[in-house]
Amino acid sequence: MKQFIVKTNSRFEMKDITNQVKSVVCESNVKNGVCYVFVPHTTAAVTINENADPDVPRDIIMELDKVIPLHDNYSHMEGNSAAHIKSSLIGTSEMVFIENGDIVLGTWQSLFFCEFDGPRTRKVYVKLVPTE
Ligand code: ZN
Repeated sequence: MKQFIVKTNSRFEMKDITNQVKSVVCESNVKNGVCYVFVPHTTAAVTINENADPDVPRDIIMELDKVIPLHDNYSHMEGNSAAHIKSSLIGTSEMVFIENGDIVLGTWQSLFFCEFDGPRTRKVYVKLVPTE
C-alpha cells in the first residue's frame, strides 16, 4: 500500500488528487489492474467528478452544506457532526481501472479529496491490484 499527504486550506474543500494517484501508478510496475483510493478519516471523503469547470466542485460543496448544515442541534459534542455525515454520504473509497500503466478516467473526470472539517493535514491510501 502507498500513501500520500493532502494539506487542505479551508473547512470545506474539494482538492484534485488525480495527479498524485497517477504518480503512484506510474512509479509502480502495475500495467493493468485496479487502483483503490481510500481516505482513512471520518470527516473527509473521496469522489470522482468534473474539474474542467471549478464551479462543479463549488456547487457540490454548496449543496451538501444546505442538505447537511453545520449547526443543527447535533448530539456529537465535538461540533463536527455535519462533517461526519458528509463523509459517510460521499464515501471514503473509490476504485479506478489501470490500463497500460495509467488510471482510466472519463474525459471530464477527476479524483477529488473532499475535506469537510479542515484545514487539516490528511492521508490518502492507494492500493494497486494487478490483474495480469
Ligand atoms: Zn467528531
